[in-house]
Amino acid sequence: VVGMPVQVAEALVAAAGLTVQTRVADPPSPDATPDAVTGQQPDAGALVPEGSAVVITYQARGTVDASGSPYVVVIDAGHQTKADLVPEPIGPGSKVEKPRVAGGATGVATHVPEYERALELSLRLRDDLVAQGVRVVMVRTTNDVDIPNSERAAIGNRAKADLVVRVHFDSSTDSAVSGMSALYPSGTSWTTAIEPASHTAAAMVLGAAVAATGATSRGVFGRGDMSGFNYSTRPTIIVECGFMSNAAEDARDGGAAYQQRIAGGIAAGVMGFLHSR
Ligand SMILES: [Zn+2]
Repeated sequence: VVGMPVQVAEALVAAAGLTVQTRVADPPSPDATPDAVTGQQPDAGALVPEGSAVVITYQARGTVDASGSPYVVVIDAGHQTKADLVPEPIGPGSKVEKPRVAGGATGVATHVPEYERALELSLRLRDDLVAQGVRVVMVRTTNDVDIPNSERAAIGNRAKADLVVRVHFDSSTDSAVSGMSALYPSGTSWTTAIEPASHTAAAMVLGAAVAATGATSRGVFGRGDMSGFNYSTRPTIIVECGFMSNAAEDARDGGAAYQQRIAGGIAAGVMGFLHSR
């Protein structure tokens, strides 16, 4: 399927009775067309049992600037290839510090790192929102970046985002725990102004994502300790899209079709929020 648009390739592989897993080409190939498949594993012509996995690598599109759109959404795919453990204040002027970018989770079944899955889902979410006329600014479109959480918030501030959606996957020491939750800034003087709208957005997005996927809802939680929230002057949420520590959920979250449902659900919730403003 090399050279085909990734959406076409996904459909073809699925129709052949195989399981599709997509990966963003990282680093991007300089001469590849956006959305084109740049690699597949196993190679073309290989004989494989029905149901086995085919990994498709494709070229990500960059930031989409649909000028003239009434809405700006900033998407922050959580984490990055290497954690940045240099401490930064958790909010402007704070004496409490946290690492600029913490390391994320890893899938117990798929061994996929959280930064990679978060980017895959974020790119699907971007495409869904752009198709609905939203101007989307991506905090990152590759994994090999170093962007502190304070700077991720600043990207949302500079873009004057109507909503910042931070895409993460969860982890627990209890491998049985599963489901989705949404977080919003709460309980600090830095985020008083954005707390009500963020809370509303978190509830709407989680509700829509759960409805689209059938995942368990773990609820909406206010947080005062997240740098990516505390530097933000724009409504902002984290969607925790599933537990990478739960083997069944990790495997399901890695599938292209299921990921598309998560993205579609989040996008529906975002559109509901934008239209309610
Ligand atoms: Zn995370």
